[in-house]
Amino acid sequence: MAEQTEIARRIDEIKATLPQGVELVAVSKFHPIEAIIDAYGAGQRLFGESRVQELQAKAAALPSGETEGLRWHFIGHLQTNKVRQLLRLRPSLIESVDSERLLGAIDREAVAQGFVQPVLLQVHVACEETKTGLSPEEFETYFRERRFEALKATHLCGVMGMASNTDDAERVRADFRAIRSLFDLALELCPDLRGFTEVSMGMSGDYPLAVEEGATIVRVGSAIFGERAY
Ligand SMILES: *Cc1c(COP(=O)(O)O)cnc(C)c1O
Repeated sequence: MAEQTEIARRIDEIKATLPQGVELVAVSKFHPIEAIIDAYGAGQRLFGESRVQELQAKAAALPSGETEGLRWHFIGHLQTNKVRQLLRLRPSLIESVDSERLLGAIDREAVAQGFVQPVLLQVHVACEETKTGLSPEEFETYFRERRFEALKATHLCGVMGMASNTDDAERVRADFRAIRSLFDLALELCPDLRGFTEVSMGMSGDYPLAVEEGATIVRVGSAIFGERAY
């Protein structure tokens, strides 16, 4: 048997700590396709990218015969003028829908391209102003008013969020709890929501806490691929 690579070893280690039913997104942004192929060889099928241009280049460069079943999640801030380009790449999930305006643009484009796009609504609970997403108030109003009923070709699958960037574990835990509570609130307000099942939270530094607080998807980059060279 060939020697296991460092990337394969890290993926195995992380997967061993995840409860059944929690999905691992290997965040490959800023890493070359060799790293993706390496992870694929270790059995990883789900990857996360945060820039449309980069995702497009990688999807085109991967040897298609050798990467069957590979899926992408889009996790970065998405500008409305990039929506068409992104949807053409058929990401299996857009996790980072951070405004109703963007959601509307995705829905119109999915109608135009003739398929249903699965998405998560990104919520903003962290203390940093630089992070994006619906505020808890906007999120609640969205479901109270059942605005999702206007969507024609977008499937709302759940929520995504990030904790504050701090060493204070209690603050991080509180942020994850707030994200999970918003997910629960949507289901409480709209128990008829179908396929609203995903809570994406937790990154390299904090995914074990996120899992404890009810994550169903974790997004791990540097703990798999090493530090990014920006
Ligand atoms: C980059 C990124 C991650 C992964 O971060 P790491 O700390 O490298 O694990 C997760 N989620 C989002 C939204 C990101 O942009």
